[in-house]
Amino acid sequence: SEERSLNFLEQIIEEDLAKGANGGRVHTRFPPEPNGYLHIGHAKSICLNFGLAQKYNGQTNLRFDDTNPVTEDTEYVDSIKADIKWLGFEWANELYASDYFEQIYNFAVALIKKGLAYVDDSTAEEIAALKGTPTEPGKDSPYRNRGVEENLQLFEKMKNGEFKDGAKVLRAKVDMASPNMHMRDPIMYRIKHAHHHRTGDKWCIYPMYDFAHGQSDSIEHITHSICTLEFVPHRPLYDWFIEKLEIFPSHQYEFARLNLNYTVMSKRKLKQLVEEGFVRGWDDPRMPTISALRRRGFTPASIRTFCDRIGIQKRDNLIEVSLLEYFIREELNRTANRVMVVTDPVKLVITNYPEGQVEELQAENNPEDESAGTRILPFSNTLYIERDDFMENPPKKFFRLGPGNMVRLKYAYIIKCDSFDKDADGNITTIYCSYLPESRSGGDSSGLTVKGTIHWVSAAHAAKAEVRLYDRLFKVDDPNNEEGDFKSYINPDSLQVVENALIEPALASAKPGDRFQFLRKGYFCVDPDTTPEKLVLNRTVTLKDTWAK
Ligand code: ATP
Ligand code: MG
Ligand code: MG
Repeated sequence: SEERSLNFLEQIIEEDLAKGANGGRVHTRFPPEPNGYLHIGHAKSICLNFGLAQKYNGQTNLRFDDTNPVTEDTEYVDSIKADIKWLGFEWANELYASDYFEQIYNFAVALIKKGLAYVDDSTAEEIAALKGTPTEPGKDSPYRNRGVEENLQLFEKMKNGEFKDGAKVLRAKVDMASPNMHMRDPIMYRIKHAHHHRTGDKWCIYPMYDFAHGQSDSIEHITHSICTLEFVPHRPLYDWFIEKLEIFPSHQYEFARLNLNYTVMSKRKLKQLVEEGFVRGWDDPRMPTISALRRRGFTPASIRTFCDRIGIQKRDNLIEVSLLEYFIREELNRTANRVMVVTDPVKLVITNYPEGQVEELQAENNPEDESAGTRILPFSNTLYIERDDFMENPPKKFFRLGPGNMVRLKYAYIIKCDSFDKDADGNITTIYCSYLPESRSGGDSSGLTVKGTIHWVSAAHAAKAEVRLYDRLFKVDDPNNEEGDFKSYINPDSLQVVENALIEPALASAKPGDRFQFLRKGYFCVDPDTTPEKLVLNRTVTLKDTWAK
């Protein structure tokens, strides 16, 4: 909102603009690695990068950080683009770090020529052994003082495929005694004879993150390269490469990654949940992915508002998922049409209502929005209500139905319970009531006030639907910080399927993506599994925060 104070990134940008830095330009980028689907943490980064550019009349690049050939796939590229668009953002340029392989290779050659990079024949173990510890300096590799010519030749041979994976690496010649481990002659290139999803078999050497990310930023003249806190110790190296290469000086800034409680956010872990069948797919509505939130019924606006309101932090923290739910509940309260759905039905007969008569009641679609209009709701002498809206021996404050009690049927009449039937197991099978003809909603002259209002459907008019009720995917607040395998904290009851919920007829023609409030139950969204024969609905969120501690 306009009233909040500037966050630290806005402050930095405004100072830069005041100084006339970067010619008054603001250019950010969102750099996903196409190795999984985007999650709500990525949404935070997207809202931040695109949001800052929008605010300061700048631009944002979508750059696929595809320098690791093994884990990447075009399926992920497509889903990432769809998710960013759905969130409501447009990138200035669609770019691929792999398009810079030639240029990054030339950067490496330039550093070799300056005596600032060398080919090391050591094994990974040997390199690690000489690396030192945070309190002890490392030791020079025996290959550190190779001459420029030899390094150039060897690096070219690496590129030409003359060596096996792991036989050699290219390292930056920085400082083996630096207190920052990332500065102890970091690896710039490794040999990997692997097929890349875009460059095919053209390359068998690939740049490491630290020698690709900042270089890509610089090539694109990115002004503010925003990443998460784990990259703070990489920043000196980010700056060192840019300085030594004398290329456009992009700058890196860090903020705390978004963590949500009751879920995991690392793509590696999410992938395990999918591959090991704990969920039905990347877009299973219990997942924290953007595609799952969409399927569950979240709107782009609710996610953007959430990302904006949580602000940006410089320290890692855990955000309550109930806050995300708060924003969608607020929005859907304003926008979702109300309908009546009975998930655990028991039959109710109105004995003084003429058998076979059907009354078409007018029901308002949304009390929060008059323009949403009304719908027709058929009423008859045989209805279904929720089983738990009736009690044989109700306690004092039970304002629903019980022998001799009165309630209002929403949009219809006041009824009084006269009797009921039970089966041999003691389950209620039918409730018998009488109605007060003069108590019709909108024209009630009965003079009675009843405390409870319940929802219902007309037996002859109700259709069936499958309703999927979701709970937290994990039983614990922070599955990442528990002992042992995070999967042992999965909530076994995170999905409850109601096969045959009874829905009012107006809902039967709903289409995938349509959103509703089921009166007294929560907000629901039509699932893409819906077929002409079967409507499937997902519970987006309950009506109230049932998780408040
Ligand atoms: P993961 O650990 O889930 O694989 P990642 O950081 O490796 O995440 P990338 O595809 O590299 O995933 O992320 C793209 C961008 O999104 C990066 O700039 C990254 O910093 C940012 N990002 C990823 N996760 C989060 C998060 N939880 N909160 C904020 N930003 C995030
Ligand atoms: Mg990454
Ligand atoms: Mg990752």
